[in-house]
Amino acid sequence: MHKPLMRIPYTDILPSPTIIPASAHSLTGALTALHNFFTAPPPNQLPTSAVVLTGAGLSVSSGLPDYRGINGTYRVNKTYRPIYYNEFTQNHEARKRYWARSFLGWPNLLKANPNTGHYAIRDLGEIGLISAVITQNVDSFHPRAHPRIPSLELHGYLRSTKCTTCHTEYPREDFQRHLARLNPRWATLLQEATASGALNTEDPEEKKFRGLKVNPDGDVDLPDAPYTTFRYPPCPRCLADPPIKAEGFRHTVRADSDGAWILPSTAGILKPNVVMFGENIPSHVRTAAEDAVDNAGKLLILGTSLATYSAWRLVKRAKDRGMPIAIVNMGGVRGEDQFFADLDPSQAGELAVRVEVSTDEVLPALVSQLRQKLASSALSHNASISNASQENSYAFKDMLS
Ligand SMILES: [Zn+2]
Repeated sequence: MHKPLMRIPYTDILPSPTIIPASAHSLTGALTALHNFFTAPPPNQLPTSAVVLTGAGLSVSSGLPDYRGINGTYRVNKTYRPIYYNEFTQNHEARKRYWARSFLGWPNLLKANPNTGHYAIRDLGEIGLISAVITQNVDSFHPRAHPRIPSLELHGYLRSTKCTTCHTEYPREDFQRHLARLNPRWATLLQEATASGALNTEDPEEKKFRGLKVNPDGDVDLPDAPYTTFRYPPCPRCLADPPIKAEGFRHTVRADSDGAWILPSTAGILKPNVVMFGENIPSHVRTAAEDAVDNAGKLLILGTSLATYSAWRLVKRAKDRGMPIAIVNMGGVRGEDQFFADLDPSQAGELAVRVEVSTDEVLPALVSQLRQKLASSALSHNASISNASQENSYAFKDMLS
């Protein structure tokens, strides 16, 4: 039996990284090291493809803030404290506050799109270099950008709500319409904020509403807002037919005349379908992530400080399997020295890479460099360049064998 794996925030200051190899301080050096990482045959007869592990840093250039990057949420918004699972499930007032902030933050998330980093992952997958992506992000950018590469969303996703009693999933977009209908004054506020551009800018000076901040999980801080007036709907299925409790009694699920969840309801609470802090990761997700690591020969880590143990332990697993590890992240990574201990100092990226460069710069450049190499390799095999682009994955496997 596994011990349950809980999502817990980690806010310690992390030391600056040691760049590996030493030549990888510049963008060109980083590019060469990553090129070596992908093209070198993996040690110990491991599979040739890599599994990718991503975090909030990858979504920053999509307009979604990081927790701890240069302008991370923990730094810009010192009072930011994410909601905990127990608080959400047990406290009606906490849920009102959560959904009010989520209501204001949703349009920002909805109009955000995957960025060049996500599309570079798609391209690396098409070349045959990536077998799966494990993400801690809840923004759904991975499945959108590369539907053909499996994406394991370790901390769930914001695109759905889920009933905490009957576990039915509903589209978050529909839920937003219900919230607007139940909270007309908030809907007006949101319209005004959107029209004024207050939700579109990260520059605090430009914000029409003082202290309005968008957080990585897509919610918004609005100090002094009357959260207590906010209303949210119950699970339609539980409202129509209140479920039976374990003890054989029926749950109470009630709504006011407008359809908002009210006390003394004991069930039918909708939750964003994300793993909240203090909540356990579903065991099937955890197993799938472990399998993704076990089925790959290399691990590429992008835009994460591995602050959550659920992500950190996957890297430890890769290390224990002898997989080469590459980390592209601005700022320190939890326990990274341990991942790069006992390295051959003459290695040039084939066993380990640690760089501090922007993912949206280095990844597209890496893709074009790898494609060039493929094209010339295809030419040397008397194959035409036009065929090379379609036969990429095969050509690359040939090159590695
Ligand atoms: Zn339900």
